[in-house]
Amino acid sequence: MQHKHIETLAEQFENAGPYEILNWAGETYGERLAIVTSFQITGIVTLHMMQRIAPRTPVLTLDTELLFPETQDLIKDLERRFQLDLRRVKPRQTPRQQARDYGDRLWERNPDRCCHIRKTIPLRDALAGFGAWVAGLRRDQTAGRANTPVLSHDSRSGLVKIAPFANWSEDRVWAYIHEHNLPFNKLHRAGYPSIGCWPCTKARVSNGDGRSGRWANRSKTECGIHIPLIEERASEVMRA
Ligand code: SF4
Repeated sequence: MQHKHIETLAEQFENAGPYEILNWAGETYGERLAIVTSFQITGIVTLHMMQRIAPRTPVLTLDTELLFPETQDLIKDLERRFQLDLRRVKPRQTPRQQARDYGDRLWERNPDRCCHIRKTIPLRDALAGFGAWVAGLRRDQTAGRANTPVLSHDSRSGLVKIAPFANWSEDRVWAYIHEHNLPFNKLHRAGYPSIGCWPCTKARVSNGDGRSGRWANRSKTECGIHIPLIEERASEVMRA
């Protein structure tokens, strides 16, 4: 799909609801559509809506081998409940192999490189062959996500990236979860607003945004899969 066409569609979808956007994605891409989720609340709503649209759509999740047990439990629950075609995307290296090659606790010394190894490269490889992917990004999550387009060209994968919930608020997502009695990560009840790898996730920082517990006390706010390639090349990721 041409960049211009993507921009035009993105404008048209500004006033559309996520179900309508997901429906369009299912009809347009069929087997070439993937859902990418880390099983945050928006991802859970995505999976629930997709049950009525295209339930066999492949679901890719980045299993960094550093996830909380609570997250693993939730993944298993939803996999069973929705009969998901779940694909656990793993890095080429185990945490032990990474420690051997890059030193122990790389996430403390160079989290960008750690995310690059355990998330960005594996996702790029796993998306090969697809035409579009769905992400759970919302504009209300962080300042950096405030201009998230509903539809965009993903420079990393070369695919169309779809963010059907860009316009939804956190409250609206929670309301949907409760209305449909959907499960969610138990760590939310312990004050974790967003949940990633255990070494880099803490409970909400006071006055922080919805992702404030991720890489707390660092300038880093994104793992990298949502950062355009051009910005990454200007960063320090490749200069470890
Ligand atoms: S979130 Fe932390 S532990 Fe997970 S891949 Fe990134 S730096 Fe490594």
